Amino acid sequence: MAVDITTDLNKVRNIGIMAHIDAGKTTTTERILFYTGITYKIGEVHEGAATMDWMEQEQERGITITSAATTCWWKNHQINIIDTPGHVDFTAEVERSLRVLDGAVAVFDGVAGVEPQTMTVWRQANKYSVPRMCFVNKLDRTGADFFRCVDMMVERLNSTPLVLQLPIGAESDFLGVVDLVGMRALTWRGETKMGEDYSVEEIPAEMADLAAEYREKFLETLSEADDAVMEKYLEGEELSVEELEAAIRRATLADKVNPVLCGTAFKNKGVQPLLDAVVKYLPSPLDIEAIIGHSPKDEAVEIARKPSDDEPFSGLAYKIASDPHLGKLIYVRVYSGKLEAGSTVVNSVNGKKERIGKVYQMHANKREEIASVGAGQIVAVMGLKDTKTGHTLCDPQNQVVLESMTFPAPVIEVA
Ligand code: GDP
Repeated sequence: MAVDITTDLNKVRNIGIMAHIDAGKTTTTERILFYTGITYKIGEVHEGAATMDWMEQEQERGITITSAATTCWWKNHQINIIDTPGHVDFTAEVERSLRVLDGAVAVFDGVAGVEPQTMTVWRQANKYSVPRMCFVNKLDRTGADFFRCVDMMVERLNSTPLVLQLPIGAESDFLGVVDLVGMRALTWRGETKMGEDYSVEEIPAEMADLAAEYREKFLETLSEADDAVMEKYLEGEELSVEELEAAIRRATLADKVNPVLCGTAFKNKGVQPLLDAVVKYLPSPLDIEAIIGHSPKDEAVEIARKPSDDEPFSGLAYKIASDPHLGKLIYVRVYSGKLEAGSTVVNSVNGKKERIGKVYQMHANKREEIASVGAGQIVAVMGLKDTKTGHTLCDPQNQVVLESMTFPAPVIEVA
């Protein structure tokens, strides 16, 4: 049955996961879908499923993590993961996905550090000032070096890493992280089973000096990016965890810093704190005040559309996919107003009327048919005949073109 999706936009995150090939984007995404799936599906999960390899089970059923947008939930927040291709051959596709996401997580291989494809995607993300966090993955691997990777973020990406965590132990003895915001240790001791959460402990005594040094660096970097922190820092006043988190969010949204976390997605260590950070520090659709487009009649006439259901409908088609069961699906980011199944809209780029067929929200393990969806959301639409990637769909009475860029329109097969 089709449902209406109305969500508090403050609780929506449209994110992309970007990485050089092999850095662990797929594994990190799978782990995210696992942990969010377990939380969301609680009660639906078969007994013992929490400890078996859920992903294997899901893969047999044909998981759609290759979907252009996958929706999941974490702690009352809706996270839409937008596929961001890691390969340089897909530069146009990367650009397109960067336009529709609000924030991103860059995954790094802890051994290789900052690699060329990440540099390419990072530069593209700079163009749109996409707020970004970094996850240094594979810390269990021989030769992994968290600190070298952070140095490379400065040298190769010209970024301002804000280190929020330090690794505890290394390689096969990597057991957790020091959380520099809460000044505590999060650990996964021994063999970590899927679904298992971290334990909160005191910072290990042998790491006390390093933690104090990096807490100071964290406060310095944050104060340079945020006046409220600077004021208290100069006065020598303590900042609460809530104040620090709010400041990290402000500085990240302003694209002044990039929070850095670490772990090993493969061994299930670090993914839950990463999800917490996505919710805490990356923007919601409401953090983007308005998208600026132009009139279809005159490119010089700017039109702003706010992320509100009360505005006229506007949305950007950003990816065409071919689904074996549903046929052609077009992924659309709704920027303003409501997108309703069965309604008639206009493609303001080619001037053609389009009838919206069925509308779906795509999940890791199922798709959900929805009747209408509001601003800020990302959905897959059936039934569009003359719409290509980069085209704008809008209210026939209130037309706008959201981008004039033309992209090639590859058709990809989804599982
Ligand atoms: P992608 O190309 O970025 O999507 O990378 P994948 O997620 O496919 O990972 C590439 C390889 O690295 C796979 O063999 C993974 O099993 C492995 N891998 C991913 N994360 C980790 C990790 O944290 N530690 C280790 N040791 N291997 C990992």
